[in-house]
Amino acid sequence: MCGIVGYVGKKNAYSILISGLKRLEYRGYDSAGVAMINVQSELNIYKTKGKVDDLVAFCDEKDTTGTIGIAHTRWATHGEPSSKNAHPHVSASGRLALIHNGIIENYITLKEKLIDRGVQFRSVTDSEVLVQLIEYIMQSNELDLLEAVQVALHQVIGAYAIAILDREHPDTIVCARQSSPLVVGLGKDHDYYLASDASPIAEYTDKVVYLNDGDIAVLQYGKTLKMVNKDNETQQPKVKQIDVSLGQLEKGGYPYFMLKEIFEQPECLRDCMRGRINVESNRISLSAVIDYREKLINARRIIIVACGTSWHAGLIGKQLFESLCRIPVEVEYASEFRYRNPVIFPDDVVIAISQSGETADTLAAIELASKSGAFVFGVCNAIGASIPRQTQTGVYIHVGPEIGVASTKAFTGQVTTLSMLALCLAQERKSIPAAMYQEMIKELASIPEKLELALRTNKQIEQLAPIFTYAKNCLYLGRGYNYPVALEGALKLKEISYIHAEGYPAAEMKHGPIALIDSEMPVFVIATRDRLYDKVISNIQEVRARGGRVTALVTEGDEQISKLADYVIELPDTLECFQPLIASIPLQLLAYHIAVCKGKDVDRPRNLAKSVTVE
Ligand code: GLU
Repeated sequence: MCGIVGYVGKKNAYSILISGLKRLEYRGYDSAGVAMINVQSELNIYKTKGKVDDLVAFCDEKDTTGTIGIAHTRWATHGEPSSKNAHPHVSASGRLALIHNGIIENYITLKEKLIDRGVQFRSVTDSEVLVQLIEYIMQSNELDLLEAVQVALHQVIGAYAIAILDREHPDTIVCARQSSPLVVGLGKDHDYYLASDASPIAEYTDKVVYLNDGDIAVLQYGKTLKMVNKDNETQQPKVKQIDVSLGQLEKGGYPYFMLKEIFEQPECLRDCMRGRINVESNRISLSAVIDYREKLINARRIIIVACGTSWHAGLIGKQLFESLCRIPVEVEYASEFRYRNPVIFPDDVVIAISQSGETADTLAAIELASKSGAFVFGVCNAIGASIPRQTQTGVYIHVGPEIGVASTKAFTGQVTTLSMLALCLAQERKSIPAAMYQEMIKELASIPEKLELALRTNKQIEQLAPIFTYAKNCLYLGRGYNYPVALEGALKLKEISYIHAEGYPAAEMKHGPIALIDSEMPVFVIATRDRLYDKVISNIQEVRARGGRVTALVTEGDEQISKLADYVIELPDTLECFQPLIASIPLQLLAYHIAVCKGKDVDRPRNLAKSVTVE
C-alpha cells in the first residue's frame, strides 16, 4: 500500500506534501517521512514512526524550506514500522532520496551484491535497495539519474511506484511505475504534482497523467513532461481531466470519514444510478452492455474475482446473476484464483470488483483471465485506475472518493451496480418476466429513499453500542441474500473494533458455531421478511434456547421477532434481492459506534490500509 506524494515548482513543497500525505493516510500510517531540497541544495530528510501528525510535530522548527520534495506514508511489508525503516530512503553518499510503494521481490539478491561491493544499508526494507542500486549504477557508470533508473529497473523484479530526488538537480523528480499506482498532476507553470491517487492533486490542478506500467516520468520544473520507458523509448502522456470536488475529500463536520460515508450512501446510490436507470421508460442502460451485448448475454459462466468487502458484494452478485439471468456464477478470492490454475473458458465473463481499482491480487487475477481468453469486466470506483484500464469494459460505481479504511459506500455502490448489471442482462436474455423487471427497476430506484429511513436507526444503534463493547466474540447470521450481509457485518466489526466476529449462514450454525453460543456472545441476526423468514425465526429460537443474546434486524412492523429477540432494529421493506443494501446500513453503524465506544481510531484501524496494492 503506502501513499506517495511529490511536488516540484515554485511553491513551498512542505505544505503541499503534508496535505497530500493526509489525504493518502488511508493507504497506510505505520510511519511518515518527507525529503526536500532547500536553496542551498541541501537535502533535508525527516521521518518518524507513526502518523502524519507525528511527522508534522517532528518537523516543527526544522528547515522545511524548498520548492521540491517527496513524501511517504507507509504500510510496512518488509521491516517493522520504525523511523529507520520509514521512507524516504537515502543513498549511501546522501545525494539521492527515494520513496517506494510496492514490493521488490528480488531485493535480497540485489542487496547482497551491493553489500559485497561495499554499499552500506541503513534499513531492513526492500525499498532501500532501489536507492542504493540507482546510486551505485550512477557512480560506477557515470550516468545521470534517469539513465541509472533505467538500468536499475532492468534488474528489479516486483511492484513499484517510486519517486527520486537528486540533490545535484534540485529542479527535477524522476518517477516510475510498475504494478503500483502513480498519477502526475500538471500545474499551470510547468510545475508538477505526483501522488498515488488524484486526491492530493485535485486542489491544485485538474489535469493529470496516469502512468502506465513501465513508464518513467521526468518532472522538471519549467519543462514539458518527459516520459520514457526502461529502454528509453518515448511514451506519449495522455492528459486526463479529473473531477473530484474538495468537499468530497473533507470530513464535512463528521467526526470520522467512515460516518460521513455511511450517511452519504443515499446520495451516492443516486449518483451510481443516475443516467442509468430510467423508471419512466422502464429501462436500465449501461454503456458496457450496449457495447458488448453479445459477449455478455452469451456468457457461459460468470466468474467474479475480488477481495475483502468486494468479495462479499460478489457473493450478492452471484445470487442476482443466477436468479435473474440464469447464468452460473463462481465467486473467487482473487488471491486464491490467481495461483490455482483455474479452468477458464473463452466464453467466460470475468467480473473484477475493486473499490480502488488497484488491488494487486485482483489485477493479477484479471491478467490470468485475459491470458486465457476470457472477457474481463471491471466494477470499480476510482476513475482511471489500473483495473478499469486493464479490463475490456466495465461499470464505475460512481460513489465518490472513499477515504474511511472500512469500506461502506463502495460496498452498497458495488451491490447497486451488480443489481443494475444483472437486471440489464436479464432484460437482454429475457430471463425474467417483463412485469417483474419493471417492478424491480422501480424498487431499485427507490432504494436511496429507503436508505434515508434506514439511517434513522443511527440514534438507536448509538445507544445500543455500549452494551456490546465487552464482547470478545460476536456471531452474525443471515440466509440467502442476507448471508453475505452477515459476512460483511462481521468484517466491519473486526476491522475497526478488533472484536472477533464471524458471519455464518443461519442454518449452518447448528453444524458447528452453535457450540460457541452462551450468554456472553452477542448474536446479530438479519431476519427481514422474505422467503426464509420462518426458517430464520427457528434459527433465532435455537440461539435463544442456548442462552444467546439476539439482536435482530427486522422489517418494520414485525411483531413476532420482537417477542424473541433482546433488541430489534426495524428497517424499511424492500424486495428480497435488494435487502442487502438496506440491512448493511445498521451493521455499518453498529460497527462504527462500538469502535467509537471502545475509543478506537475508526478511520485508521491498526494493521490495515485501504488500497491493497501488494499481494
Ligand atoms: N515494501 C515497502 C516497505 O515495506 C513499501 C510497502 C508498501 O508499498 O506497502 O517499506
